[in-house]
Formats: sequence, structure tokens, C-alpha cells
Amino acid sequence: MPDTAAKTARGSCLCRGIRFEMTLPSRFCAHCHCNNCRRAHGAAFVTWIGFQNDQVRISCGTELVQRYRTDTDATRTFCSRCGTTLFYEGPRWKGEIHVVLANVDTPVDRKPAANVYVDHRAPWWEITDDLPRYGGESGTEKQ
Ligand SMILES: [Zn+2]
Ligand SMILES: [Zn+2]
Repeated sequence: MPDTAAKTARGSCLCRGIRFEMTLPSRFCAHCHCNNCRRAHGAAFVTWIGFQNDQVRISCGTELVQRYRTDTDATRTFCSRCGTTLFYEGPRWKGEIHVVLANVDTPVDRKPAANVYVDHRAPWWEITDDLPRYGGESGTEKQ
């Protein structure tokens, strides 16, 4: 079980050059199946945990941080040395930073609670969990 007493969670990239901290509580945790997440991460889907941007701090390795602005005006942050994808910031969720849960090294305060952008999921991926599903054009309409 997550240690809910911990007030801070910590994460890092694959080469450990970038380390970051998040002040709990988080705002949400969900699996995203959108095209851009799948491509940017090379994965069937990406599990995000969301925070207000003042809750996330890069504690080490700022010189390695690279940012890519997507065609949806979102910023995707990654490590320039090892390529690990780290954060998402987008105009639909102003003031928030979404953190890749796979790169968080310590317990957090919640588990994934939804699948979003389910209509965009990879044709070779079947969603098998019982979590609520959101999709449609916006990616967040209740199914
Ligand atoms: Zn790295
Ligand atoms: Zn996505």
C-alpha cells in the first residue's frame, strides 16, 4: 500500500541525471491512450500522476532537461542524455504538471483510477481493467 504519510515523492530518469520531487497530495492518476503519449513514450499507454506545477521541483540535472512543444501546444519534457520522458504540460490543464508515474521511485498517494483517450488506443492493445473509461474527441467524455 502507498505510504500516505509521506508528504514528498521522488523520481528520476533512467540515467539518474535528472531527479525531481513532488509534494503530495496529487490531483489524479490515469492511463492515457492518446496518440502523442503513445508515440512520445514508445508505449501502449502512459500512466500519469497530476500535480499543480508549484508541487513539482527538479532537484538535480536541470542542464539535462529538454522540452519539446507538440502540435497541440503541449510541452513534453525529457532527459537529453537518456531520453526518458518525464513531464507533460498542456493548455487544457493550465497550471498543472503531469508526471510519468513509471519514473517515480517512492510511494505516491493514489493508484491509477481511469483510462482516458480510450478511442485513440493502439489497435493491438485491449483494455482489460475495470477502471472508468473516457474517450470521444476530447478524450475525456465518459463512456
Ligand atoms: Zn537521464
Ligand atoms: Zn496522452
